[in-house]
Amino acid sequence: MLNLVLFGPPGAGKGTQSESLVERYQLVHLSTGDLFRFNIKNQTELGVLAKSFMDQGSLVPDSVTISMLKDAVNKNPQAKGFIFDGFPRTNAQAEALDVFLTTQGTAITSMVALEVAEDELKLRLAARAKTSGRVDDANPLVIQHRIDVYNNETAPVKNYYEAQNKYNGVNGIGSISEITDRLASIIDSF
Ligand code: AMP
Repeated sequence: MLNLVLFGPPGAGKGTQSESLVERYQLVHLSTGDLFRFNIKNQTELGVLAKSFMDQGSLVPDSVTISMLKDAVNKNPQAKGFIFDGFPRTNAQAEALDVFLTTQGTAITSMVALEVAEDELKLRLAARAKTSGRVDDANPLVIQHRIDVYNNETAPVKNYYEAQNKYNGVNGIGSISEITDRLASIIDSF
């Protein structure tokens, strides 16, 4: 199986690149942000719980997020592999993912990361707010908080995969297809 963690700060282009990679490699795309938004839209218990954290730009608690992710993997028994987008966002999530994938007889192939400077992220998220309808894109204070949460809680996950020799970063500035090609040249080397 080809299992990728697509990593990067909010606004780095993970969702956009996932679309290209899904097509190219026939993988199942699992975005925890999308799964939470689906639950919010359908007013499930999980959605109600997640909404308060998401609207503020804080992380949803690990236990909730991890069990949602496992359910989503289990719903795709035929998958050739997965793109994990927006997960893991903490070291505890990364550890839980490793344990879980081991029980499934598989593992993470690589973390591929989109590297984009903070000023560019803010510009992109403010532009996205005009069309995304996302509460967490609309408020500059929430955008700043999401970036701070990324720096404090999520960026260390890079070290987790580096320690396993699985971290591969690419420059996240350029056209969509240029960036897809950068990612593909890494993925094709596996
Ligand atoms: P995203 O769509 O990836 O930007 O995620 C939007 C929001 O969903 C985040 O700001 C968090 O509130 C929540 N979220 C998404 N993925 C996770 C995760 N792996 N752990 C905790 N919270 C998450």
